[in-house]
Amino acid sequence: MDSTFKLVVKWSGKEFQVESLSPSDTVGTLKDVIRKLTGVLPERQKLLNLKYKGKTPDDEVHLSAMNMKPGFKIMMMGSLEEEIEAVSLPPEDLPDVVNDFDIPEGEEVDICNREVYLSKITKRISDYKIVERNPPRPGKKLLVLDIDYTLFDHRSPAETGYELMRPFLHEFLTEAYKDYDIVIWSATSMKWIEEKMKLLGVATNPAYKITFYVDYLAMITVHTPKYGVVNVKPLGVIWGKYPEYYSTKNTIMFDDIRRNFLMNPSNGLRIRPFRQAHMNRKTDRELLKLTKYLQKISKVEDLSSLDHRHWERYLSDKHQDGDSKNE
Ligand SMILES: [Mg+2]
Repeated sequence: MDSTFKLVVKWSGKEFQVESLSPSDTVGTLKDVIRKLTGVLPERQKLLNLKYKGKTPDDEVHLSAMNMKPGFKIMMMGSLEEEIEAVSLPPEDLPDVVNDFDIPEGEEVDICNREVYLSKITKRISDYKIVERNPPRPGKKLLVLDIDYTLFDHRSPAETGYELMRPFLHEFLTEAYKDYDIVIWSATSMKWIEEKMKLLGVATNPAYKITFYVDYLAMITVHTPKYGVVNVKPLGVIWGKYPEYYSTKNTIMFDDIRRNFLMNPSNGLRIRPFRQAHMNRKTDRELLKLTKYLQKISKVEDLSSLDHRHWERYLSDKHQDGDSKNE
């Protein structure tokens, strides 16, 4: 029998191969190896999906007891001592900031009418499987939320998900739930979405319910003349799956990356990214303000008639409910 036990540790966007262990080694030994590979101290390692009898295993538990397949990918959250200090330094320019280009309005329309993209969406509608966590509610509008940098700062080091949660997340979801069904759509795998939602307590909060999660498999690639091929989140997939509930008229999507709603520009609202959680937790009020916006527009007949780029203006204006940009 093969006496080595290969595992992969995914942490901070990188993968580390663990190749020196045997099934008789313990979780404690595994943590030591992870420390050598990543520099994260064992007491700071949070091995998200490592479970023994449904719970986080003690250090004494043998790896063989956990039924991991060879190559099993352990997802870790954890922080280096020096990184915790580093978060108080000025922010570095992260690559996905650069990613968030603006696409001229005319171009957006061009792209969303292209036959080839519509046929990709049609294919997603038939192939992509949505697992409902809770049934859609008749008469409700639909709020589609991105995770990373929208609800959660996934890059800053921390010991608990709670530290990285955008302030007022649960209050925001609780209020939004009154008028909107809530869907989470993240450009990552379903496994990660589930872990993150568990970590933030979103999956289990009794004050609201998430209708379903959507992962990267429902996204499509689109070619833009200026930026080449980009991945986007076409709401048409959801509308095609739930024509009796959701449409361009009653859907709004929050994302920190505008190109994600390239296929449905009138339904997207670009949220300010939540980064550097440790520095910004005390001052970030985006979700509080957006709660008010969602309430204010909840009776608007056609959400796509609003210009969500100016949502803050709308919030401070003395608009009556039902007004639109075409007034
Ligand atoms: Mg994001």
